[in-house]
Amino acid sequence: MPLKPDITPPEAQDTRVGFALVGIGKLTAEELISAARTSEQAYVAALVSGEPEKADGFARALGLSEQDAYTYEQFDELADRDDVQAVYIVLPNSLHREYATRAARMGKHVLCEKPLGVSAEDAQAIVDACRDAGVLLMTAYRCQYTPEHWAARDAVQDGTLGDLRLLHSIHAQVEDDPEAWRLKRELAGGGPLPDVGIYSLNTLRFLTGQEPEWVFATQHQPAEDPRFREVEASMSALLGFPGGVSATIQTSYAAFKTTSLRVMGEKGSLLMDPAFPYDGLKLSLSDDDGTRQPSFPDYDQFTLEFDHFARCIRRGDTPGPPARRACRTTSSWTPCTRAPAPDRSCACPPTRTATRSGARNRSCRRSKYTAFIL
Ligand code: NAD
Repeated sequence: MPLKPDITPPEAQDTRVGFALVGIGKLTAEELISAARTSEQAYVAALVSGEPEKADGFARALGLSEQDAYTYEQFDELADRDDVQAVYIVLPNSLHREYATRAARMGKHVLCEKPLGVSAEDAQAIVDACRDAGVLLMTAYRCQYTPEHWAARDAVQDGTLGDLRLLHSIHAQVEDDPEAWRLKRELAGGGPLPDVGIYSLNTLRFLTGQEPEWVFATQHQPAEDPRFREVEASMSALLGFPGGVSATIQTSYAAFKTTSLRVMGEKGSLLMDPAFPYDGLKLSLSDDDGTRQPSFPDYDQFTLEFDHFARCIRRGDTPGPPARRACRTTSSWTPCTRAPAPDRSCACPPTRTATRSGARNRSCRRSKYTAFIL
């Protein structure tokens, strides 16, 4: 697969943090390798893949040797590589726990793709393993390094919009390959929610700095569509944040690509549309004086993410967002996504057992409450 064309020569590697990228799928091949090459703080020192030829090819393209390309079976041999200080887990969601905990046991810092785990238990195991090993852990929320998201956060938190009232976010796209691992519950942990809807929920937490107090969610899983035998096609949720702030979140694998974010305060509002792509984010801020669209310098979200985590490793800082916080926010989705049923809704107070809310959500009521780690 081609690397991005505008690659600048790397800085001296001895001042940067060496990463092993684990999994050479679409994200690694199309984004992460080139992002690491433009990072001032990080570089790719090793690659881990189930396809040795592919790993060798990328290693050569990066100026690495065949010894820098590992199979999954050779993963633990990274322990002998002093130049590999961090491991970036870019595997299907349910494999995050195994590779993150093994990396931590080797004393490697862990950067893990979202979602951190497919269950609260998985995520907690990763957090515990990293804490016990004394290594840093960060979930790869690339949007939290963009100037647009920080400007939105400032507007929410510095009072520019006045007291917060309403929040709304959509992240939808069409997933049309019925064989994709993203549609297999065992590998993905769910459907659009842990894959793309996670951006909406996590961004609302990032902007407000608060956690939802309650959630009401409904999902659609069409029985006649073979893509959605195991996971939901769409999900909508109403969330209550402290102070009477209400939020709606919608996500789908069966709706035209849409990523948007809207925040309404008493004195003003903001709109980001698109809100979550790799580039081209657009932010506008409105109040009684009109609407303005601030402009921002170009950047690569993945480069910013690499830089942040590598800088934390070099300085001994705590990376943001802290994994502990991600673990605490076990938002109440899982009861709604657990048992396959065509259409369901359920009301769920976070961190408690799901409660019954009408005749249609009996399966939710019986579900043990766990949640995605967002
Ligand atoms: P992908 O399907 O393109 O790549 C997955 C990689 O995992 C492949 O190299 C595949 O060979 C390997 N793999 C190992 N065991 C596997 C198994 N049992 N089944 C399937 N593949 C297996 O996926 P991707 O899009 O690169 O996603 C990987 C991770 O990155 C996921 O956690 C996903 O949520 C995350 N992701 C994040 C972003 C982002 O913007 N931050 C974007 C895309 C994906």
